[in-house]
Amino acid sequence: ITIPQLLRETVSRFGPREAMVFLEQDVRLSYYDLDRAVDELASGLLALGLVKGDRVGIWSPNRLEWVLTQFATARIGVVMVNINPAYRLAELEYVLNKVGCKALISARSFKSSDYLGMIRQLAPELETCKPGKLNAVKLPQLQTVVVMDSDPGPGALTFEQLRQFGGPSQLLRLPSIDAALNPDEAINIQFTSGTTGAPKGAVLSHYNIVNNARFVTDRIHLTEIDRLAIPVPLYHCFGMVMGVLGAVSKGAAMVFPGEGFDASVTLDALERERCTAVYGVPTMFIAMLEAVSSRPRDLSAMRTGIMAGAPCPVETMRRVNRDMNMPEVTICYGMTETSPVSFQSFVDDPTDKRCETVGRVHPHLEVKLVGPDGGIVPAGETGELCTRGYSVMKGYWDDPTNTADSITDGWMHTGDLATFDADGFCAIVGRVKDMIIRGGENIYPREIEEFLLRHPKVSDVQVFGVPDEKFGEEVCAWATARPGEALNVDELRAFCQGQIAHYKIPRHFRVVKELPMTITGKAQKFVMRERMIQELS
Ligand code: ATP
Ligand code: MG
Repeated sequence: ITIPQLLRETVSRFGPREAMVFLEQDVRLSYYDLDRAVDELASGLLALGLVKGDRVGIWSPNRLEWVLTQFATARIGVVMVNINPAYRLAELEYVLNKVGCKALISARSFKSSDYLGMIRQLAPELETCKPGKLNAVKLPQLQTVVVMDSDPGPGALTFEQLRQFGGPSQLLRLPSIDAALNPDEAINIQFTSGTTGAPKGAVLSHYNIVNNARFVTDRIHLTEIDRLAIPVPLYHCFGMVMGVLGAVSKGAAMVFPGEGFDASVTLDALERERCTAVYGVPTMFIAMLEAVSSRPRDLSAMRTGIMAGAPCPVETMRRVNRDMNMPEVTICYGMTETSPVSFQSFVDDPTDKRCETVGRVHPHLEVKLVGPDGGIVPAGETGELCTRGYSVMKGYWDDPTNTADSITDGWMHTGDLATFDADGFCAIVGRVKDMIIRGGENIYPREIEEFLLRHPKVSDVQVFGVPDEKFGEEVCAWATARPGEALNVDELRAFCQGQIAHYKIPRHFRVVKELPMTITGKAQKFVMRERMIQELS
């Protein structure tokens, strides 16, 4: 089915129930309210002259307008393009032109970045144009700028104006939900996190993401009585597919603690809103565990949730299970290119399996592990994980070379190394690119990270390789200390001595205040590696 069909089904079953709460904006909507607001906005988009297949960019932190845009664009077959809230001028210009956005819907600002200021810098022509009639040298395809602010200045529309733009006559023009759209059409361009370099735009269909959202929330037994907290960014598939579409597919309520992530604010939201589930990447859970240990909250309503997006340390999973009252927490493994999830545990799998593996394969997918020569590796061995099935993206936007490199015969090459046990539980060993080869020994950073995380003063740690004349590569570790703890390099080195093989002991340790992260909360090893190389040279 399509995204509008999914919403319609849920509205007809659960219309009066709460659909979402945006705590920072202080708004609450029922599924009926959501449906009405979406139709209004969709008719506004039609009145702008947008037609099926056009691209509209959304550049905003977690706000109501984001979700409305998600459903309103889908309602009329317009392809929504998620723009990373961390982008700056050059990246914004690149994305808007790369995918040819006709309209941009933007927040006024987020944290210290002035989004509107950046747009005006790129398109000074806004100053003198009529709304919807932009003709900017640097953004040749962009016609309309919509800003989530009551006073965006000349040339731009406010979000509220866009909602009213359609009026009753346009509402009548809205196409029929069943006739107008084909589930296999592209509806969303999502950029990957940029953990290993420049983000790539994955083109996804209704079919890809609606189905994945259902399967993900099936496994955590989400229903209309659940209240799911979504502190992960909407711009990423974790927020918009597993979060929004997942909740809608079950009629659950969504709770958005804030525009950006803050551990304490999230915990307060879990407590006050009586949430039953929460999503997060490992670093977010690490921060929440710290915040809950310094000030306990009533988390008695909690039950489940999902940790995903990056290697999930076993110890962190166990603590989440116990200290956040999430006995049914699961790990998901996936990637933007596969809509995203392909592995997940079931809530009733044994705790050890739920903490130590990414669970078992999702329905309707095939998987295989291949070696460097492309052949399937023998059972029990490590290989690159490949997945095939309904969830594989249509391709990277306007990038046939990268698409052909990553998909062959329908198989998506994930770039991740994995192993399976006899029961089909999958463990992710790490990224192919992150594997360190030191003096001929293959070293998996994950193993060393898991070990160092057992140090009582270590909060988070990342291990990566840097080039070395003698050994080819050398192991480096960057760690952050738990709040109030003084951690030094010698302690870390001593901790490893005699405990792990000598060649795995990091040659270079650093204790840092913060690890370089993507907005999705993933550590960027390529940034650390570059800094270390500079420092060492
Ligand atoms: P880019 O492709 O731009 O470098 P990215 O790969 O981090 O960034 P995403 O699509 O957001 O972009 O993330 C998918 C990747 O995240 C996977 O390929 C995998 O490396 C990692 N990942 C996701 N879930 C897990 C998990 N549960 N355990 C280990 N790794 C995971
Ligand atoms: Mg990737």
